[in-house]
Amino acid sequence: MKIEVDRELCTSVATCVAVAPGTFELDDEGIAIIKDSKGDVEDIILKAAKSCPVDAIILYDDAGKQTWPK
Ligand code: SF4
Repeated sequence: MKIEVDRELCTSVATCVAVAPGTFELDDEGIAIIKDSKGDVEDIILKAAKSCPVDAIILYDDAGKQTWPK
């Protein structure tokens, strides 16, 4: 799975960090970054993406197809 964070959309709510702390952290500007794309199991990463209120987390499967947001 590939993970991206849209820095323009991210509003620093940090629910992604709360849900998947092994994967996401906030940088110096308070924007979510990926610290380890395998830091949590995929279900947790998907849950974190779904928890983002502005859909700033974009997920792709191994074939490169976007799987979230749908
Ligand atoms: S939940 Fe969304 S808006 Fe909040 S820090 Fe994570 S990516 Fe940014």
